[in-house]
Amino acid sequence: MKEREAVRLKRQRFAGTVLGMLRKQYPDRLHTELEHRNITELFVSVFLSPQCTDKQVNKSTEMLFSKFRSFQDYADSDPRRVGRYLKGINYYKTKVRNLILSSRMITRSPGGRVPKSLEGLMELPGVGRKVANVILNEGFGINEGIAIDTHCITVSRRLGLTKHDSPALIEEDLMRIIPRKEWGTASNMLIALGKDTCRARAKECGRCVLKDICPSSAASGRAGT
Ligand code: SF4
Repeated sequence: MKEREAVRLKRQRFAGTVLGMLRKQYPDRLHTELEHRNITELFVSVFLSPQCTDKQVNKSTEMLFSKFRSFQDYADSDPRRVGRYLKGINYYKTKVRNLILSSRMITRSPGGRVPKSLEGLMELPGVGRKVANVILNEGFGINEGIAIDTHCITVSRRLGLTKHDSPALIEEDLMRIIPRKEWGTASNMLIALGKDTCRARAKECGRCVLKDICPSSAASGRAGT
């Protein structure tokens, strides 16, 4: 037990150092790169984002948001009309179907607003834990969990912040070592690193800000993963 706590404390200190360095390196990446002007647009963008790049989502939503402005607009529409703007999004047919169903649930709920809890969000069709975490954090500044995407998985493992593969267990590990108020920015920082130097297939340790402290750094003669 003592040994496990010692490991946790060591990881906690290391995570603090890592996040401090990443914040300096990526000061403009503290928030999502999904473009939005209000909670409706944020919800829709994040909803469409799984298995798709932020760039592609932004490209597709530009026209969509000029035609659909409220959840009522989506709720009153049909898959063909919404899907017309989203053909570049992976799995767009399923996402569009679920987006319309979710919009109907939101508009029919008391107050007609986006739920402000993980539980409430995850009751909506097509909303998983990662999507719910991003909406809560970016939309309401609420930290109930840490959004774990493929970049977070790769980077967290290489940095030794977790030994797990599953997003749920990685999220638990990170929640134990990162202060709650930083959960949202921590996810965005790890994603920024994963998109920049710590890409899954081609990491570039030589130009990575963490090359001197990372246990997987190929630039400091350490074994890489
Ligand atoms: S040093 Fe290499 S392995 Fe470590 S975080 Fe940077 S790019 Fe990834």
